[in-house]
Amino acid sequence: MTALHVEGLEVCYGRTVAVAGISLDVPQGSAVCLIGANGAGKTTTLRAISGLTRARAGRVLYGGTDIARRPAHRIAALGLRHVPEGRQCFAELTVEENLALGAYLDTAAAAASRRDQVLTRFPRLRERLSQRAGSLSGGEQQMLAIGRALMGAPRLLLLDEPSMGLAPLFVEEIFAIIASLKQDGTTILLVEQNASAALDICDHAYVLETGRIVISGSAADVAVNPAVVAAYLGG
Ligand code: ATP
Repeated sequence: MTALHVEGLEVCYGRTVAVAGISLDVPQGSAVCLIGANGAGKTTTLRAISGLTRARAGRVLYGGTDIARRPAHRIAALGLRHVPEGRQCFAELTVEENLALGAYLDTAAAAASRRDQVLTRFPRLRERLSQRAGSLSGGEQQMLAIGRALMGAPRLLLLDEPSMGLAPLFVEEIFAIIASLKQDGTTILLVEQNASAALDICDHAYVLETGRIVISGSAADVAVNPAVVAAYLGG
């Protein structure tokens, strides 16, 4: 079953066409990555899917419903959660408060149970519940941003460059976390510049260049595509 089907998505900033009519599928329970160079349109694609940026054309079918023209808060309420580029934790709020915001639509009982699950997954956050988010390391903030999204019990998780700017050990840890989320059945659409690590943990991959999908297929096939190896895998 398809969790997300994007068809002919086009997004413009004034006269700049950032995403030029792309189509992609995210099957239920799979992890799909979107890789590409700086400025290729990856972030814009995710923002258009989650309603943060308005698409000029195209359809975004989520569980069979076209959400392309819905506002972001209504899309979030349907269980689509977006972990944005640069984490965007609320720096002045504590870890506890940031997590609580992820469950703003839930009952107190549901939020408490999600909180337990998130803190079991991220023991490092449990140790820092009363710490201000702005004082966490980059890797800890990424865990908090993912934890905040998990507080909303996502049916589809969009992750934008989760490894960006992190120390190598944290990069490994973040990819291990994403792999474990996938293992537990979470459906994931991952945007990454670390193509090698993304292709390792994903089932399918799309390569975006200047707003167009130029290569797609199983992650295993894309990982050995000579053009991908030359451009993104240091071959
Ligand atoms: P990066 O890996 O650097 O984040 P990306 O693949 O995510 O890149 P986008 O951030 O989606 O790419 O940008 C796609 C294009 O749209 C780029 O040419 C960028 O300059 C342009 N763009 C992005 N955001 C805006 C904006 N708010 N206003 C105008 N142009 C924008």
